[in-house]
Amino acid sequence: MKRWIMDEFDIQLSFEEANKRMHLEEEEDIALMRSLCDRAVELAKPKAICRECAVDSIQGDQVILSGTTFESRVMAENLKNTQTVYAYAVTCGREVDDWSHKETDPVVGIWLDMVKEMILGKAIEQFFTRLAHEQNIQAYATMSPGSGNLDVWPIGQQKKLFALIGEVEQNTGLRLTESCLMLPTKSVSGILYPSKEGFITCMLCTRAHCPNRRAPYDPSKREALSEA
Ligand code: SF4
Repeated sequence: MKRWIMDEFDIQLSFEEANKRMHLEEEEDIALMRSLCDRAVELAKPKAICRECAVDSIQGDQVILSGTTFESRVMAENLKNTQTVYAYAVTCGREVDDWSHKETDPVVGIWLDMVKEMILGKAIEQFFTRLAHEQNIQAYATMSPGSGNLDVWPIGQQKKLFALIGEVEQNTGLRLTESCLMLPTKSVSGILYPSKEGFITCMLCTRAHCPNRRAPYDPSKREALSEA
């Protein structure tokens, strides 16, 4: 099964765009973050790794992807008509992350986190677009372990996902801790699969007031899954 590494991204992020998240108004803060934002973009070297996997079998809540067994009712339902998935990990990169951790002011640290998150967002978008183009995938959906309610795809299965992708740290610098935290934290992993219907974990997530919500909670979807 094929594996790809992507380390060439075109990250463009202006202070004005970043400030839509940071909401800075004081001139001093704006001047500081304008220069730090430029520096972050200059340093950022996002990386992505991806492995093509076969859907070997689906039985009940168990899904076997290229020999690795995952347990998730939602994944079993989402992949029931799918033969191939792409297991992936994307990171903002150690370069910008290590640099940002030298910042000693915790408030500036929070703003830098937002900048890194936006860099990651742009890297993810470019990676998904390139993968879909190269694999001729017209429409796709993604799932990530630990995203949304605990039962959607339990975070503990992150280790199996990393093992399935293989040599993630060697190729991207992205490390998984014993407690399944990804370092740099501005990283994301999961599976991408062809899907006309689409899927957004937020539809199954009951978390209130989440600033990153991309779709409203849909109790009927959750009920349909528990009956499936
Ligand atoms: S609502 Fe927020 S926490 Fe829940 S899945 Fe969406 S982004 Fe994640």
